[in-house]
Amino acid sequence: MTKRVYNFYAGPATLPLPVLEKAKDEFLDFAGTGMSVMEISHRSKEWMKAMDDASNLARELMGIPSEYKVLWLGGGASSQFFMVPLNLQIPGKPMEYVNTGGWSSKAIKEAKYFGEVKVIASSEDDNFTHIPKDVGFSDNIAFAHITSNNTLYGTEWSYVPSVPKDVPLVCDMSSNIMDRPIDVKDYGAIYAGAQKNLGPAGVTLVIVREDLLDRVPEKNPTMHKWKTHAEKDSMFNTPPVFPIYICKLSLEYLKENGGVKEMEKRNVEKAKVLYDVIDASDGFYKGHAKPDSRSLMNVTFTLANPELEQKCVDGGTARGLVGLKGHRSVGGMRASIYNAMSLEGVKKLAEYLKEFQAENQ
Ligand code: PMP
Repeated sequence: MTKRVYNFYAGPATLPLPVLEKAKDEFLDFAGTGMSVMEISHRSKEWMKAMDDASNLARELMGIPSEYKVLWLGGGASSQFFMVPLNLQIPGKPMEYVNTGGWSSKAIKEAKYFGEVKVIASSEDDNFTHIPKDVGFSDNIAFAHITSNNTLYGTEWSYVPSVPKDVPLVCDMSSNIMDRPIDVKDYGAIYAGAQKNLGPAGVTLVIVREDLLDRVPEKNPTMHKWKTHAEKDSMFNTPPVFPIYICKLSLEYLKENGGVKEMEKRNVEKAKVLYDVIDASDGFYKGHAKPDSRSLMNVTFTLANPELEQKCVDGGTARGLVGLKGHRSVGGMRASIYNAMSLEGVKKLAEYLKEFQAENQ
């Protein structure tokens, strides 16, 4: 039996074991071709089918309407930080962002290369412990941008901010895509690096409303235009075939397991197990996020001092509960409990945290 641990890393992150097993089984012979998926031409009919399947599964699972394009792009979510303003800018109109953490800040920095950026709400002053309330974007802007889940700080939006009718809302869903149902029509564009809730690193899912594709100024590099990729169904150049293939397997698995609605149910249950331990710990574990802004995906907390945190992380590792150290910019501890993390894994962690408290307080 291969050794497997409970992996709480924030991304790349745990994937469902049946997905990895299927990939292993098919590794040398993909779809009966006698070639690995890594060897086969991206123009072959077998590959084109796999890619179509991946896009159709994303459409079905998220309820993506036909007027939206589904793209699989390289360059990570970080490339979308500049591709969003590059594709959606309107000369003379500002771009509005909400700053809810390190990744929002990076997106804001890139947008500034393209024109005026207004940060209309931010939780930076209280160390990104909450999602600003009642956010509403202005008229007459090029687009509005939010980060729906803040991987480093463990906060997640529980509402869709209000946006004037003609203004597209753009959302970085890298760390919570498909953690619960959403209405794609609320958004002009959505992007998500795959390596948390979808598959491995190396591909970013971009969902964009077709009417927005013509905004991009002609004088931009071809590869940077969403339009280029939309017109060629993400096959303008060689797509990242292996990561897309694993995404396809994991979307199949998600569908077999009840889809996004079922994930929401499980995610609420999983997150509650850990937040309950934090809340019942009498301050031994301090949750970083304010209760009304808590993430279903990244549970962040601190202990009395860094030494105790390290001891807790090390004790977890010794028990096969791995990846619990918080991000270096925040410190403390973080348990990332994406769709692929089982309730069993979360319960094991909760048990451990309770024991650790009993032994160390
Ligand atoms: N946005 C969010 C919310 C993230 O969590 C991350 C990665 N952790 C990124 C963007 C950047 O993604 P990538 O490393 O794929 O560029």
